[in-house]
Formats: sequence, structure tokens, C-alpha cells
Amino acid sequence: MKKTIRFIFIILPAILWPWAVFLAAPLTDDAMIVRVCIADDKPETFISLKSDYKIYATNSSRVLMEGPCLTAKVVATKDGLRVGARQLNIGGIRVKVGKNSKIYVGGKRFRGDIDILRKDNGRLMIINYIALDDYLYGVLYHEVSHRWPMEVLKAQAIAARTFALYQAKQNRLQLYDLRSDIYSQVYGGSGSEKWSTTMAVNSTKGLVLVYKGELLPAYYHATCAGRTEDASNLWKVNIPPLDGVECGFCVESPHYSWTKNMPLWKLEEKLASAGYKMGKIETVAVLSRNESGRVDKLSIKDNAGVSVVLTGKDFRQLLGPNELRSTNFDVSIKWGELILTGRGWGHGVGMCQWGSYGMAKKGIKADEILRRYYPGAEIVSVEKIQGKL
Ligand SMILES: [Zn+2]
Repeated sequence: MKKTIRFIFIILPAILWPWAVFLAAPLTDDAMIVRVCIADDKPETFISLKSDYKIYATNSSRVLMEGPCLTAKVVATKDGLRVGARQLNIGGIRVKVGKNSKIYVGGKRFRGDIDILRKDNGRLMIINYIALDDYLYGVLYHEVSHRWPMEVLKAQAIAARTFALYQAKQNRLQLYDLRSDIYSQVYGGSGSEKWSTTMAVNSTKGLVLVYKGELLPAYYHATCAGRTEDASNLWKVNIPPLDGVECGFCVESPHYSWTKNMPLWKLEEKLASAGYKMGKIETVAVLSRNESGRVDKLSIKDNAGVSVVLTGKDFRQLLGPNELRSTNFDVSIKWGELILTGRGWGHGVGMCQWGSYGMAKKGIKADEILRRYYPGAEIVSVEKIQGKL
């Protein structure tokens, strides 16, 4: 792997305090780096370092603070940031420790460097600059069970690596590449590493998925419950590897089928806070479904005859992605409650994690699992596509 590729870009984002320019202090780790937003809009945070550290301004290589250890509260102030008792009149700091040391932020342990930025709303954004594979160590534990067979862990490592690089490419001009929650890939810092998941990352080092020589948007999800979703139903992505395939391997998933009851007043409240002016809800009905059986459109009507038509995707967003686990559901109303009976968990695009677990249990190897869920995609070394990252 070429050692000079980095996802660091010089920008002057409008949302930040004017002094925060992101030409950061040099990184020590010669590797691919991803920028993961681990917290946003926090009034304050706590950092703890148990080894030699240096704190730089994010816009220069000037050392502002250094020492053998530090525990401090970081607060946004009128003129910048306060680290412990020290007032720093700057818009952002980068905290660096030695190669094998960790930084604790808000009680979680992280590898790599940490940027703490003061936004112009007086709140903090915290970004972890971390080597790609170090990041994957922290992702895999949250995305799959570390007790699953090695082949499914390897397939997950390749998909997660590809997805991270794809996001980095997409977000090149943004402040960060990935978030640490379900909107990117769940990342728990280095406290989330396990032997087996780390082994899966190491044994697939540098391997990524490509389609026609381009990095694949390697979406994945927990359980498809039958057929994976065509990505073009959800996003502006229309390529054969993400057209959707039959799965048939995820029947063991605890999310294969589910029921969710929600009081109608809660739906009314959610509609109101999303800006829909509706009264008492009387009917909710599926209008159409797409090829995979997921809800394409549904209508909601109130007692005054006012109705709204939403896409399945927007309805899931309205209710909350963990409240409505997928867009593959039936809906009815009974005794003042919305009754949702559904199948699967997640957007349904790309690799089905429980399906890949089912395949691995049958002795199917990681490359075959990936070829099944991303038909037409190839697994290559990242070196082969370096010019396209
Ligand atoms: Zn499946």
C-alpha cells in the first residue's frame, strides 16, 4: 500500500469559527487515514492521556501544550477553547500521543489523533484521525458478532473497508469522512476491539471491492429477510452489483420478522414535528411496493380527510430507523395503535450480514459471500485503484 495517501484537505468551512483552518499538524502514522466524527454539538468534553502528548493548533504545527500525561475538561469559550485551566485563543486543537498510546475522549478510548474544534454555535465537534485498519478494528465488533465464523468476519472487513474509502471519497470536501453511528458505520473506538475481528481486518489487509475499476459503494445491512433492495430505490446509485439479489440465508436472524406497535398519538406527534399539519390519524395504507416487496409509497389520512403520501424510506425516517426496522412491512390500525408487522432490519442494500453468517456456517468463503451480494464486483488490492481514491 502506498504510504502517502491521506484524506486531509484544506478547507475553510463556513460553519466553523473563522480561525479554524484544517491544515493540520503532521500525522505520525504513515497509512491511509480516515476522519471519523465521534461527537458533535457538545458543550464540553473530557480528554485523558496516560502518556507523552502534544497539543497543536489545527491550523499550524505550533505546539501549544505538552507533557507526560493529562486529564482535562475542554470547553468552548468566547475566544476559543479552554483545556483544563489553559485558555487557548484558537478555533481548534489537535491532540497527539505516541504511536501505541491511546486518547480517552468522553470515556471512550481511541487510537490515532483527535481534533477538537469550536464551531461558531459555541459547541464542539470532535474528529478522530485514524489509520483505516485501526478504524476497522473498532467498527467490526459493533457491526457483527466477534463469535461468528472467520469467513463472515473477513467479508465484513472487506465491505467495511470499501465503504469507508467510498465515504472518504464522497466527503472529501466535508469536515469528516464518516460518522461513528448508524448513519455511517458504528464505531466504538479501540475499546471495541476483539481478537477475531482484528484478525479478520489483518488477514484481508488492503482488499476492497470494485466495479468496473471504481470503488464500490459497498452498502450492507443486518437482515434482508428474503431479497436485498435495489439501491436505486433509495439513493442515486444505479449499478448492477446493487440491483438486489435473492438471499435465502438469513432465516436464523432474530430480525427476520417483527411486530411493532405504536400509539397513534405518537405518529401524530412525529408528523407534527416534521411539519405536517394533520389532525387525528384515521388510516395508514400501503399504496405500492417495489420489486423486493418493500414499501414504495404509503398514504396517511386524518379525520378531516387531509392526506399525505410518503415514500417507505421517508416513513421509516419519520418513525425512526430503529422504531421501524425496515421498509418491508404491513400496517394496520387497531384500538388507537399503529400495528406494524415487518421483515428484516436495515435499508436492505448490498450484503445481508445475517445472510453472510448463514453462508459462512455452510462453509462458504468470504470471496464467494461478497460475490453473491455484490454480483459483478471484484475483490482487488487497494493499490490497484490508488489513482481513483
Ligand atoms: Zn438476507
